[in-house]
Amino acid sequence: MRIGVLALQGAFIEHMRIVEELGVDAVPIRLPHQLEETDGIVIPGGESTTILSLMETFGLIQPLRQLARLGLPMLGTCAGMICLAKNIPDDDVQTLSAIDIVVRRNAFGRQTDSFETELSIPVLGAEPFPAIFIRAPIIERAGPQVQILAKLPSGEAVAARQGKLIATAFHPELTRDFRLHGYFLKIAGSPE
Ligand code: GLN
Repeated sequence: MRIGVLALQGAFIEHMRIVEELGVDAVPIRLPHQLEETDGIVIPGGESTTILSLMETFGLIQPLRQLARLGLPMLGTCAGMICLAKNIPDDDVQTLSAIDIVVRRNAFGRQTDSFETELSIPVLGAEPFPAIFIRAPIIERAGPQVQILAKLPSGEAVAARQGKLIATAFHPELTRDFRLHGYFLKIAGSPE
């Protein structure tokens, strides 16, 4: 198995390290032809406007949209979640429109721009996940095919799955808890 990690901007090295620590090849993706022969794609955290505009410059928007439609597994974290979302209200930036969620960027006030919390993510088991939020988005609305994987105690949805597409508002790549990546790799490795 081979996972492509979008390496235009942001925390791609951290994702590549975890994928490799879990025994799977990770390849950096900067150009469309590098998408060939990948079994899944990770879109890291960073700055979504920068990532999306570099995707546009390097001709990656259309191929990634099509691969998501065809069922290629994808994991987007923080800015990566924004890239996968259907749209961002009050922002006319083009996303991949892959997951039927509407997200709000920088959804936490200035004092809580960044925080870490123990998050319950039932699909990962009973033990809470150390979730790091850095100028994070939230999921404001989700379509009927979307499964919400985690909510903050205040009720905001912060992780979702639609088919083989997963999005988290937090940064699993910045912790030593690899369960979320393991969950994604299991999806990417499953035959149907
Ligand atoms: N605030 C960033 C954005 O809007 C996301 C931050 C992150 O990925 N840590 O793209």
